[in-house]
Amino acid sequence: MSQPCVNIGMVGHVDHGKTTLVSALSGVWTDTHSEELKRGISIRLGYADTTFRKCPTCPEPQCYTVAKKCEHCGEKTEDMRTVSFVDSPGHETLMATMLSGAAIMDGAILVIAANEECPQPQTKEHLMALNIIGIENIVIVQNKIDLVPKEKVIEHYHQIKEFVKGTVAENAPVVPISAQQNINIDVLIDAMNEVIPTPVQKLDKPAHMLIARSFDINKPGKAIDKIAGGVIGGTLTAGSLHPGDELEIRPGRKVESENVIHWEPIFTTINMIAAGSDKVEEATPGGLLALGTGLDPSITKSDSLTGQVAGAPGTLPPTHDSFTMDLKLLERVVGVSDEESIGNIKSSEPLMLNVGTATTVGIVTSARENVAETKLKRPVCAEIGSMVAISRRVGSRWRLIGVGVIKA
Ligand code: GDP
Ligand code: MG
Repeated sequence: MSQPCVNIGMVGHVDHGKTTLVSALSGVWTDTHSEELKRGISIRLGYADTTFRKCPTCPEPQCYTVAKKCEHCGEKTEDMRTVSFVDSPGHETLMATMLSGAAIMDGAILVIAANEECPQPQTKEHLMALNIIGIENIVIVQNKIDLVPKEKVIEHYHQIKEFVKGTVAENAPVVPISAQQNINIDVLIDAMNEVIPTPVQKLDKPAHMLIARSFDINKPGKAIDKIAGGVIGGTLTAGSLHPGDELEIRPGRKVESENVIHWEPIFTTINMIAAGSDKVEEATPGGLLALGTGLDPSITKSDSLTGQVAGAPGTLPPTHDSFTMDLKLLERVVGVSDEESIGNIKSSEPLMLNVGTATTVGIVTSARENVAETKLKRPVCAEIGSMVAISRRVGSRWRLIGVGVIKA
């Protein structure tokens, strides 16, 4: 498998078939956490790599496949490119996870089940998130076509076109598929190649990695001298990394002394880099990668470094305990049945803020119509000018209400 070069997000309402589609394309079932298996829904960000391949003799679109041998003529297929899928949870309580995944998506597949009216609440909320974050390379998948008659599929197609009018997905292709029955997967690969290009790599910049997951890969009871160092997973937005490189991770770790809390950057060394199914000597921007580090695995276990940023020591953006944002709020709350209008941000209200892959809560310390100053419960490492997805508590849930740009 070649190194993945692009991240493709799977978004959409719960149960519409995102995880099944990732599995159909990659052979990987991303719901592996015990709670996910028990409840049958994705909770964390899942990821899986796959190589899009092409049969040299069959016509389009039948030539597109993920199989090494063409299922039509039996010929050996050729490697086109390897992609990483970022599988988002579609449950309404897990918007923060979807938003942190959205930060690393180069493009997205919006999965819409054909056996339900369109749009369902999180179909709308996820599209709104793509819209305001500015993820423009979108393919719409009309899934589960095996469950509905053809006239219904056509009717549903018109509902989709009506729903995406005036959004980033207005001109996105709509591909009818069955993820479960492997119908039209070739057409979908063709559409992804067409609509979601491989981004240009910024190799001349310092390495900047957004951490999406972190792990302790040791089985309980392992002998101390055999324990592997902590692993971090995520994507490089710029630069390159190599085994042996020094790494700084920000904001790093929380240190409490004499009742004062501060955050200290973590320093370590890269021992190993995995990208695709292989160990590599150089990681470059695009797909997902995992770094084996010299860190004590207790520092990386259970996604404890999710949302942090890694790169060469001394090159990372500043850590903010507070920041001021220029605001652009939506008109109405989406993703709920009665869409109330969104009022101005008020002083002392809590907001959920997603910055890169980080999720934090900011308490508003001062607010005017288009500007808000917030004090963060958990600091974030981000460049001035970074985009922030802003959610507010409406009823018992965080709802996306707009975006901000960090000013200072
Ligand atoms: P997610 O919540 O969007 O990740 O949805 P899942 O991939 O977990 O799928 C939810 C349910 O729909 C599972 O029971 C799948 O087997 C089923 N499913 C997914 N795709 C299809 C499809 O194309 N046809 C049919 N009939 N069922 C599907
Ligand atoms: Mg899922």
